[in-house]
Amino acid sequence: MSTELLLGEPVAADIREAVSDRVHELGDRGIIPTLGTVLMSEEPADKRFMDLKHAACDDVGVATRDIRLDPSEPSRRLHREIEDLCTDSEIDGVFVQVPLPNHVALPAVRQRLEPEKDVDCFHPENLGRLVAGEPRFVPATPAAVCRLLSSYDVPVAGADVAIVGRSGIIGKPLANLLLQDRTPGNATVTVCHSKTADLASVTRQADVVVTASGAPELVDGSMLSSGAVVVDVSANREPETGKTDDGSSSRHGSGTANVVGDVEFESAREKASAITPVPGGVGPITLAMLVKNVVRAAERRGTDG
Ligand code: NAP
Repeated sequence: MSTELLLGEPVAADIREAVSDRVHELGDRGIIPTLGTVLMSEEPADKRFMDLKHAACDDVGVATRDIRLDPSEPSRRLHREIEDLCTDSEIDGVFVQVPLPNHVALPAVRQRLEPEKDVDCFHPENLGRLVAGEPRFVPATPAAVCRLLSSYDVPVAGADVAIVGRSGIIGKPLANLLLQDRTPGNATVTVCHSKTADLASVTRQADVVVTASGAPELVDGSMLSSGAVVVDVSANREPETGKTDDGSSSRHGSGTANVVGDVEFESAREKASAITPVPGGVGPITLAMLVKNVVRAAERRGTDG
């Protein structure tokens, strides 16, 4: 069976083009869409993800404010930075990189975000709106998965979808979106997590498997039905192997070396009808979707949202 590669970059390029037009229209009104980000981590992978977000904004003319805090700072310092961004009239969107240090309580962070600037749907009000089917913002990664499925005409209505991972930024919102009476949606969704008793029995039943566990190569071909569509959201960094980091020695397609997904690519490709590479699948679309949310927030300046 020939397996289709679900490449993210062509999809992301289409989104960027449309977003770029909207940025120009905003410019004509004297508005420069601006994203404020907060990173409280010294992890190289987190810093790299943040750099990519800024580059994605820069690409389409969205301005950024880049706040980086030492992970040992007290929570109140993070709270103050978030509040300052949220009250700054030049900032349209605020993004806080997770995971946060252990001493920082996530609920208090969520509450400090201004819902109208909460472009990655952290605030409980925005999560509630999403579950109710009236999202203010669809968080970037679930939005990217949905866009990928639509762009490649993956049948979702009536399909069995297994999602591996129940985090508040990926698994839970994605499950809600794919359940809803929308496109893509109307799926029968099963959400798995680390306490799921028999993961393989769930994934083997699924027409579409979406993985977002952060567990390298957790899912292999033996855990898939023949012809399944596989969307691997994760980008897990492998220990250094001496390869360069310029993308030239990536294992499956273009992009950064030493990054693997949750899916064991070669055996999964044998079974799947379509599969995302890692890197080069969901990641580029996620960046474009985040920027799109910032532009949407800027377009709402002065309106009810
Ligand atoms: P997270 O908060 O750590 O959540 C991971 C989820 O996976 C949890 O629900 C966990 O279960 C579940 N899980 C972990 N090990 C498992 C196992 N062996 N079997 C079944 N379920 C398991 O992570 P996240 O922030 O959602 O990120 C997930 C992955 O996506 C990471 O690799 C991250 O780098 C990547 N990511 C990609 C993008 C993108 O656009 N491509 C964007 C953001 C993040 P419990 O709830 O029981 O602990």
